[in-house]
Amino acid sequence: MTDKDITALRAEGVVKRYGEARALDGVSLAVARGECVALVGESGSGKSTLLRCFNRMVEPDAGEVRVEGRDARTLDPVELRRRIGYVQQDGGLLPHWTVRRNAALVPWLREEGDAAARAEEALARVGLPPERYGDRWPRELSGGQRQRVAIARALAARPSLLLLDEPFGALDAITRAELQEVFRALRAELGIATVLVTHDLHEAVLLADRVAVLRRGRIEQTAPPAELLAAPATEYVRNLLHRARVVAS
Ligand code: ADP
Ligand code: MG
Repeated sequence: MTDKDITALRAEGVVKRYGEARALDGVSLAVARGECVALVGESGSGKSTLLRCFNRMVEPDAGEVRVEGRDARTLDPVELRRRIGYVQQDGGLLPHWTVRRNAALVPWLREEGDAAARAEEALARVGLPPERYGDRWPRELSGGQRQRVAIARALAARPSLLLLDEPFGALDAITRAELQEVFRALRAELGIATVLVTHDLHEAVLLADRVAVLRRGRIEQTAPPAELLAAPATEYVRNLLHRARVVAS
């Protein structure tokens, strides 16, 4: 097997229980190198839980998770989280650190000499010129700008994998569209394998190579957007598309 054949992320029969409830009930999903897979589904369907299995913030009760071909259980969780970019809905910036320092967090933790330069490069990439924004505090930014910093922080680590948990979920429609565009351009340029959790089917169809629909901890269908729209595999997927008024373009 060549390096190229190794799947970036793979979940195989993953089960996660919280008491009696099963947040994940036998989920299998593979993300190829450079691919973006969107995870969609209603609130509570297990999207965040599945995402967090990939960086060991959640440990499955059964099944297997592989990261770049290796069993996640054999990988050091701290090292794994520094290697995989992770962005949440609220961005998770440190409020008492400047924008520049927030963006430099991971290379700084790794004691890399060029942490500051990497942070500046990443800030510029997401449309926040460091000379203008670098010395600000998170509270001095808009919600959209804070999410840009969160994405810059993930990119400054030069990750080969990105996990995004509703990264644009709390933004107004215009800012959201702007950031979707930033994300699209970044992906085209960097080709980082990405799992994007979103409850917005339009966003999924716009940004992802494939869409996985989760329902009560199970995957109903995984397909490229055009195929999902043209041939919903179940009544549930059909209804979900219908309710979101997503139509083939
Ligand atoms: P989603 O991200 O799709 O909204 P989650 O993955 O957050 O869904 O949650 C899936 C299910 O697991 C929900 O029923 C939720 O209440 C439950 N759950 C998630 N995390 C925990 C936890 N730490 N303790 C107990 N139940 C949890
Ligand atoms: Mg969630």
